[in-house]
Amino acid sequence: MIDIEKVRAETPACQQVLHFNNAGASLMPRPVFEAVLNVLRLENDVGGYEAERLVSNDLQAFYTEFAALLNAEPDEIAFVENATRAWDMAFYGLPLQAGDRVITHGSEYTSNYLALLQQAKRRGLKIDMVPSDAFGQIDVSALEAMITPRTRLIAITHVPTQGGLVNPAAEVGKIARKHGLIYLLDACQSVGQIDVDVQAIGCDILSGTGRKFLRGPRGTGFLYVRRNMLETIDPPFVDLLSATWVEPDDFQLVPGAKRFENWESYVAGRVGLMTAVRYARGIGLPAIEQRVSALADSLRNELAAIDGVSVHDLGRTRCGIVTFRKADRDVSQIVERLRAQQINVSVSASRSARLDLGERGLSSLVRASVHYFNTDSEIDRFIDAVGKL
Ligand SMILES: *Cc1c(COP(=O)(O)O)cnc(C)c1O
Repeated sequence: MIDIEKVRAETPACQQVLHFNNAGASLMPRPVFEAVLNVLRLENDVGGYEAERLVSNDLQAFYTEFAALLNAEPDEIAFVENATRAWDMAFYGLPLQAGDRVITHGSEYTSNYLALLQQAKRRGLKIDMVPSDAFGQIDVSALEAMITPRTRLIAITHVPTQGGLVNPAAEVGKIARKHGLIYLLDACQSVGQIDVDVQAIGCDILSGTGRKFLRGPRGTGFLYVRRNMLETIDPPFVDLLSATWVEPDDFQLVPGAKRFENWESYVAGRVGLMTAVRYARGIGLPAIEQRVSALADSLRNELAAIDGVSVHDLGRTRCGIVTFRKADRDVSQIVERLRAQQINVSVSASRSARLDLGERGLSSLVRASVHYFNTDSEIDRFIDAVGKL
């Protein structure tokens, strides 16, 4: 059981706003905010490099906290400035050649898909789109049937940004292993709301961000790379941190996933994100997952009962992201009118989800994303506000 009073007291903004925009950027709990502030204050008081030295234990804890969160090893974790670059650092370094095939799905994150398109053009890769099953999630048997001798990579998104779908990531993992394919999973919307375990899922690479369901600071992200995959990926960039200059004309990559990091990074953000992971683990991911999914279920049910409201989340399993629209009301106007009542939601638009919303003939939806610190009475207030629109 989560102590809701406590977590709300540690999230002071709960008093000011009804925050259903946790898939955009969640509210930082006070210990995370304090951790970031503390590093900034130290940088101001003693100097940046000197501050970094003083928080070196916290910076080390980044790797052990993430390893424990994801069921990985500390040297399989890298800090990256956001989820997109984390994904890029792995993807752009894969040894993919002309004629190689990559399997993805319409729920793939737009920036990932754009990178796939760019590399398909530049390197002559072929992209195979796996269809959805009757629930709207990745059709796992169709995926397996698509595999050819030239297929190298499965690149999919666990939870898409634009809806409540949870893709069957572990079933895809079984197929990737069986066929010896590299499995790259975008877990940006799942880590922090779902108990993600890289061993159970069987992915080789996983990327995520700090600011969403993990409740970390903005401008932070992370990458997991399975140890036996490290030598397969040639980092697209190297620098003083990721490589050691061993001879005037030679260098070696550093051991472990640190080879995907940058020399310069947001030290306060790294400590803040470590604190966010520690905070989430303190509450417990199974408890978080259970509460988020229960809150989202009741939000969906109550929304669907409002006259003119339709709910649009796909998948057999659904998460904390709830998407809907109301009759012919303009979606951005709905968001504006809710904002005027201190209710935070956002928009899922087809221009950034052409293969998903575009295919379903939906131009845009309201996205209301709940977290464990939200309450039933906030749902009541939200339902009342949407009903009155
Ligand atoms: C937000 C999001 C990203 C990008 O994360 P950044 O930290 O903004 O780069 C990637 N994938 C999914 C599914 C997302 O929702």
